[in-house]
Amino acid sequence: MPTPITGEMSVFESAEARFEIAARKLGLEPGLYQYMKYPEREITVYIPVALDNGQMQIFTGYRVLHSTVRGPGKGGIRFAPDVSLDEVRALAAWMTWKCGVVNIPFGGAKGGVICDPEKLSKSELERLTRRYTAQLVDWFGPERDVPAPDIGTNDQTMAWVMDTYAMHVRSATTAVVTGKPLDLGGSQGRREATGRGVMICCDKAVAKFKMKREKCRVIVQGFGNVGSNVAMLMHEAGYKIIGIADIHGGLYNENGFDIPKVHEWVYGQSKKLPDFPAGGEKMGAQELLFRPCDILIPAATENQITAANAHRVDCRILCEGANGPTTSHADSTIGQKGIFILPDILANAGGVTVSYFEWVQDRQGFFWREREVNERLQDVMEQSFDQVVHYAETHRVDNRIAAYILAIDRVARALKLRGFYA
Ligand code: NAD
Repeated sequence: MPTPITGEMSVFESAEARFEIAARKLGLEPGLYQYMKYPEREITVYIPVALDNGQMQIFTGYRVLHSTVRGPGKGGIRFAPDVSLDEVRALAAWMTWKCGVVNIPFGGAKGGVICDPEKLSKSELERLTRRYTAQLVDWFGPERDVPAPDIGTNDQTMAWVMDTYAMHVRSATTAVVTGKPLDLGGSQGRREATGRGVMICCDKAVAKFKMKREKCRVIVQGFGNVGSNVAMLMHEAGYKIIGIADIHGGLYNENGFDIPKVHEWVYGQSKKLPDFPAGGEKMGAQELLFRPCDILIPAATENQITAANAHRVDCRILCEGANGPTTSHADSTIGQKGIFILPDILANAGGVTVSYFEWVQDRQGFFWREREVNERLQDVMEQSFDQVVHYAETHRVDNRIAAYILAIDRVARALKLRGFYA
């Protein structure tokens, strides 16, 4: 279980708290409210895996399907030691709202396995992934529930999921997962998509406040898929990245980092981020969040900004690359400080948007050029940003609640059209 934070809610309670506020503001009918509050299905699987040493170990895995109202379930699979059902349930609900915000025809789902991928060999990870998939094969499918990568999983994991599913259903069904390698029905631009979407949101906010990219100091926590891509793209675009961190710790340098060199250090040479030679000041990965900057991007994990530390956040724009990095108890402090929040269900929706493009391309059997993918992503993100900000300004709510209202309203309208099947 994730370490509980004194005085804070669990991740799911935190997600639910925002849903409650938005549902109240929207005046959601009680029946619709009840329907959307609960997931459609929660599955726990016990996964036997033969380890390389010949021993057998049972791992616990989950798949939560929150909603299929607007389309098949969509959501990543997380491999991490602190995965819990509560967390997967929250992440599944966020996927429903996220797909609603960017208006793509998916519902929400999420999966997770309690394991430490860094301690398992590649072949152990393959056996774990295949058995997890086999146990869920009846529930996955391009029209049912479509997984993708998340923390601890990657394009190789998705290739194994696709192959296992294909063996069971006896047809090469590439559209059953997204975030696959390019050689296996993956989409151009998917790897960078979440980071690119985060940057597009930042660009929009920077333009709104008439700031200049070159003058913006940016701190990014997390240097995985989301964090490293957003740092690379923003560095290329002229932003100054003054703080970076991963699970091993943080680095701060007010003159800015040469991000391609950091990337080569971490990914080319497999070295620890805080040991980067032209480094700067070493500090804790969480401590970095409290250094002054213009844009703060938590892109690692949940519960980083809490009621206990939100008063220390010192930025103009808080752009959530991770899911749930700010607890609901921290929302009011962030609001009182006048920080412009770009909430997770908007800011990191670039990943699921290009996953949607991947699903479309797989089903068409026709693939787009990277430029087309990026242009379409840009359109979706810019339009979603404008809608959220417009809603927030006209209804005098913060961007987070505006994004929830926009999404809940879209799901509610679809639900009303479908009616309740009894
Ligand atoms: P990842 O496993 O590729 O990278 C996670 C990064 O965070 C790593 O650099 C890791 O060292 C670091 N990290 C983990 N715990 C940390 C901690 N306590 N302090 C500092 N750094 C820490 O995962 P990812 O795919 O980049 O996902 C990161 C976040 O973004 C998650 O919340 C995920 O749900 C969310 N997200 C991911 C995608 C996607 O397309 N991958 C899409 C939307 C949202």
